[in-house]
Parts: sequence; structure tokens; C-alpha cells
Amino acid sequence: MRFISLASGSKGNGYLVQAGDVTALVDAGLSGREMERRIQQAGLLASRINLLLLTHEHSDHLNSAGLLSRRFKLPVYGTAGTLSTPCGRLKPVREATERVEELPAGETLTIGPLSITPFSISHDAADPVGFVFAANGHRVVLAADLGCVTRLVAQRLAGASAVILESNHCPEMLRHSHYPLWLQRRIAGRFGHLSNADAAGLVRDVHHVGLRYLLLAHLSENNNTPRLAYEATRATLEELGATTDLRVARQGQIGAWIDLDEG
Ligand SMILES: [Zn+2]
Ligand SMILES: [Zn+2]
Repeated sequence: MRFISLASGSKGNGYLVQAGDVTALVDAGLSGREMERRIQQAGLLASRINLLLLTHEHSDHLNSAGLLSRRFKLPVYGTAGTLSTPCGRLKPVREATERVEELPAGETLTIGPLSITPFSISHDAADPVGFVFAANGHRVVLAADLGCVTRLVAQRLAGASAVILESNHCPEMLRHSHYPLWLQRRIAGRFGHLSNADAAGLVRDVHHVGLRYLLLAHLSENNNTPRLAYEATRATLEELGATTDLRVARQGQIGAWIDLDEG
């Protein structure tokens, strides 16, 4: 099993998760053209993707979901809340896409060697989820766009071989930003986004020797830097004596494939 970040941050998100000949696209937050370009950069054709999974309905996650779904005949999986919610001027996902399939939190979808289990997260969306991907004895967990760490989130991260984890903002930078107070409160609140310290704290709680890769994600462009995010979690990993490979996903470029069957 392997995965890659196509884009990560408040201007658009997307990941590919692949096991055997099954490829899932998770979120489609950039324009259709840019999503396709980055999928190609990752060495794949969009026409070979089997399904599109949505974490929630915010536009940085489903901007081109309808377009890609129709163009490539992709079934779109999401919770009932996500599929029913109109986003801005967009039609509800249900109407905008080729075909939708409800995938409630806690249920597992198995396609070929890949099993996919969404879990509920705390965020200001209709019914937002993270995902546990499992194949070939490996587990990759995606947890982004969450305002706080619930017991369920910590449980889902436990035992993972790789984690994609939100490390959204530096609270100090957020406090001194030009953002209005209501927005600062929204971001830092229980239904907003995890700070660098929140991410590092969660890593401290769930780290185990089998956690090989940690990809920090959904960094704020205005209220964080890749270096600050990296250093906060790096310090925690060092205290734990961990050998986990720590990386930061970017907004403007794809990452490298992380292959769990290698090494
Ligand atoms: Zn987002
Ligand atoms: Zn969101």
C-alpha cells in the first residue's frame, strides 16, 4: 500500500491511496485541471482512479468533486451529511456527481485489497470524517480538519503504520494575524483545526514503534510555517526516541509517494 499528498492546506486538498490495482482519491479541493495535473505528476492517470472519498463538504475538499466524478465516472463516497450539503453555489454533492454511495462513519468499505473505514471527527461541517485505510497488514490513517482530539480519533490512530495528521496553525501567529476575532476563535475552537502543539500532543499519545511515517498536513499559509509545524512534532518524536519518518505536506506541490510495502 502507498499514498501521496497531491495538495494540502486551506486552498485545496487531495490524496491518493493505492493498494494493488485499486486507487482511491481522497478529496478534490483544487480545480479539476489542477487535480488532473497533479495526479499525472504522481505518475497516474485520473481515468485509472476507482473511487473518490470525501472527508467533508468544505470547498477546499470538494471543489472539483463533481467535475472529476462526471468526467471519470467515479463513484463518490461520503457520509449522508456530506453528500446532502450544498457548498457555496454548488449543488449538493448528490446532484453534482456521477454516482454517490453513502458510507457512514464506522462502516467499512472493501474494494479489492483495500479496506476503508471512516470515523467521525469534530469540525464545523455536516458530518465530517477521517479515514482508516488498511491493506496488506498496513494501516494508514488520515485525520485532518478537526478542532479537537476525541477518544475515538486517538483510538483510530493507535497502531497505524502511517498517519496523515493536521498541524494547522501556530496559536501565537494566529493571535497576531489580521484574521477577525470570530475567525480566530473558529480556527482555534473545538470545531476548527489542530494547532502544531495539538498535533505534537496527539503524536505523543499514540506513538508506537510501528509508526513508520508521519505526514503533517493542512498547514495554514498565513498562520504557520512548514518549519514551525515540523519542529513542534520533531521535538516530541525526539523525546520519544522515535525513528518515525516525519514529513510536511505542501499546498503548492505534490509530495513523494510513501510506500509501506518497501523497506
Ligand atoms: Zn480543509
Ligand atoms: Zn474543513
